[in-house]
Amino acid sequence: MKTHQGSCHCGVVRFEADLDLHTASKCNCRICTKLALFGAKTQPEQLRVLAGEDSLGTWTTQIGKLYFCKACGAHPFSRGDLPDHGGPYASINVNCLDDVDPSEITAAYWDGRHDNWQAGTSSKPWPFEPKRIAM
Ligand SMILES: [Zn+2]
Repeated sequence: MKTHQGSCHCGVVRFEADLDLHTASKCNCRICTKLALFGAKTQPEQLRVLAGEDSLGTWTTQIGKLYFCKACGAHPFSRGDLPDHGGPYASINVNCLDDVDPSEITAAYWDGRHDNWQAGTSSKPWPFEPKRIAM
C-alpha cells in the first residue's frame, strides 16, 4: 500500500489515495469500456480529495457513483457499496494518477458486461459481441 497523487486533466480536481496497484482492474461493461476506466479499489477513507470537490459531477450506475470533473470531463474515481465484495469502496482511475505509468501496471479483467462477477478476474480481457453497424 502506497500513497499516490492524482488529478483531473485540467488540474481543478486533485486527490491522493492509499493504493495497492496490484489490485488494478479493467472491466468490459458498457460504462467502463466507454470511459476507458482502469480502477484500483481501496477503502473509502483512503481516498482524500484535496481540491476541486465542488467541481465534481456524478453519474450513478448500478454499482456505484462515478465522479467526473465538470470542467475537463476526466473521471478520476468512483465510490460505491458492494455488499458481496467487501462493502463500501472507492475505485481510483489509475489513468488519473500523476505518479505512475499506467502502461507498467498489470490489469486483471472483469466480465462485467455479462454480470459474470462470480467468475472473478482473468489475466486476459473477456470478449464481448460488439454491435455490428452496417456501413
Ligand atoms: Zn478538470
